[in-house]
Amino acid sequence: MESENYRNTEDPLSEPPVKVGIESASRMQGLDSELPINEEAADEVSAARVEPARMAIKLEELAERHGMMPVRVPRNSCSAAAENLLRKLGRSPKGPEPWVPIGTVGPLIILGHYNPSFTETWGVPACLTVRVLLEQGQYTVIQEDLEKRVAYNPLPESNALESLEPPPAGLDHHEIMEWFATNYPMEEIEAEKFGRLISENTGLDIERFTDYKGFPRHMGVALHYLRTGEFCFNPEETGSQEVFPDQLLEKHGVYPMFISETRIYMLASSPAVYAFEDEWLSMGHDPIEMVPVMADLEAILAAVARNRGKGALAQVSNVEVGELSLSDNTNLVDIDPIEMARVNPQNPNNTPEQLIHWILYRAVTSRGSDLHVEKYFNTARFRARIDGSLKVIHSCSEEMLPRFIALFKNYSNMGHAHQTLQDARFAMSIGKKRIDVRVSAVPCRKENQKLTMRFLDKQDGIKELSELNLSQRQSTIITQTMARDQGLVLVTGPTGSGKTTTLYAFLNSINEDTINIHTIEDPIEYEIEGINQTQTDAFNGIDFATGLRALLRADPDVMLVGESRDAETAMASINAALTGHLVLTTLHANDSLRAVSRLISMGVEPYLLSDALALSQAQRLVKRLCPYCKRPVQAPQELQEFFYRNGIIKAQMQEPIYEKSGCDECNETGYTGRVALMEMTPVDDQMAEMISDGAPMSELRKGAAARGVLSLYQEGMIQVVAGNTTMEEIQRLSHFGAM
Ligand SMILES: [Zn+2]
Repeated sequence: MESENYRNTEDPLSEPPVKVGIESASRMQGLDSELPINEEAADEVSAARVEPARMAIKLEELAERHGMMPVRVPRNSCSAAAENLLRKLGRSPKGPEPWVPIGTVGPLIILGHYNPSFTETWGVPACLTVRVLLEQGQYTVIQEDLEKRVAYNPLPESNALESLEPPPAGLDHHEIMEWFATNYPMEEIEAEKFGRLISENTGLDIERFTDYKGFPRHMGVALHYLRTGEFCFNPEETGSQEVFPDQLLEKHGVYPMFISETRIYMLASSPAVYAFEDEWLSMGHDPIEMVPVMADLEAILAAVARNRGKGALAQVSNVEVGELSLSDNTNLVDIDPIEMARVNPQNPNNTPEQLIHWILYRAVTSRGSDLHVEKYFNTARFRARIDGSLKVIHSCSEEMLPRFIALFKNYSNMGHAHQTLQDARFAMSIGKKRIDVRVSAVPCRKENQKLTMRFLDKQDGIKELSELNLSQRQSTIITQTMARDQGLVLVTGPTGSGKTTTLYAFLNSINEDTINIHTIEDPIEYEIEGINQTQTDAFNGIDFATGLRALLRADPDVMLVGESRDAETAMASINAALTGHLVLTTLHANDSLRAVSRLISMGVEPYLLSDALALSQAQRLVKRLCPYCKRPVQAPQELQEFFYRNGIIKAQMQEPIYEKSGCDECNETGYTGRVALMEMTPVDDQMAEMISDGAPMSELRKGAAARGVLSLYQEGMIQVVAGNTTMEEIQRLSHFGAM
């Protein structure tokens, strides 16, 4: 089917206003059925017949009539990305009930309304908008929310872009890139980057938007839309679905964005979805009209993966360097997400195994890092650590507890003795995702046991430097430090502050054939191909210090020493760092400079430390604001002054900061995931001299500040200004003291 949007010859906006309310499909089912069965319904039906103006029509029918896409957005607010784009491309609305931004397709903004005859689109040129139809109820909620946001920080009254003419019809793939470069408002850096992309694509034989080379997500689709006006959408703005099996969607790279009784609006990266239709029909299903909606393939696959894990497994991650593998002798617990969606944990007929699968599934899909299984009064309680806090995810009668514990111990090949401390592992697969689970059993009073499980999510475990949210300054420091052929890199922070993730990312950034990397760890949390990893082993006398000395014989260039917890290990690390090795290690200290004084108090000679130390880094994790529901607020004057005194801002803030709200995506907590704050003190000649001279802490701090080192607290404020977290979160760090 030929679907047209802004190029529609019969402009839907020129049609007479449709004076009808749109009600949900389910509400309408009574009207569709042949005979009303009770009087009330009969009244309603006859009333509808007498007064056609009041009759509701279905969202999908109205959409079909106007050649638009019907959409049910999974959340009732406009995404932060859409709001930002609106501010960039639009002006304040000139009438009531403007179209509301609900998402973006790369540089295009998706606008939604319940009534296609409304015309106020905030002055955003039609060709830069993808317009969709919403239920009235959803429109109203989003519109009210948006009104509040705009009141805080109004848009300008006028918009120079408004008169922008759509690209002339018939442009080819290369010409549309040129048109975009000339007409779309871009920052200098963006323009430069896009210019490079154009030259990289020059001369390429581009037949379809998927042929562009090096384009960021959604960009190819956006250009396709500018050329043709065909339906397009962003898969990130779709809800979950249960109609099609995930494997089938994944195989064909499609995802349903809207399913009605007669048609399916199907996200695809090619208008030909026949292969998918064929396979669907061959499975014995009735034919149904498919309307292809163009979308970015990678984003479609991410939507399938997300549907598979219902929210938590948000990204199809691809680890390029450092392929990860499961060790062969580990038990694999296979959990089927589709089956899990059907489990009702309160159902007394569940088998213990079903329940355990559900609990594991629940813990992982809520982004849990640990799972605790324990007796609590007369219940068996399951708690998951989610974004740092424990949350009860299930509880049931304590009589079940021994069965559960026995099952977990079976998975991990543990003996069934009650009164010993045990450590073991098993692995589970949830859809395509594989997760290693480290289990420890601890005896408790009255013959009870408590199990603690830590999920070692291998796909999330190894990050690229670019995923660490580093500032330009930090990124330069790391690149320069990791390029050194000798020196000591210290990372400090409490347990659970993300030190391991950071260190693995540092190592992985130089993981090449020409460099010999060795680690000594306790435990080995992630296995990385290309890196030689050794586990400490108290029984065989391998601790950090002896292990490190043994490793030196294996001619390493770079070494990771899991922890320098005693003077002997610290000295061995420093000696290695002074004799032609780059050594990375962790230490318990509150900040980057106290790490220095800690080592000296452990008995390390200041002149040796100052010679060896390349970088000292302190790290904390704070909760990340949910990007879907965070709300902009103007930063109070007092806070702005505080930021100003700390050198975080130089003038009155134009941009809002954000406060937490709550939605489906974040389990109503307002936060998803965490942001690492990194205080980085690189040691140059002058800093080294101060350390070697035994300068007092106050002087070291002054010296560091003069070199642009920001404290953890200041790094936190930067994240608040950037809209990634809240002051509430940063203040939890304040007892560590501002630098
Ligand atoms: Zn949220």
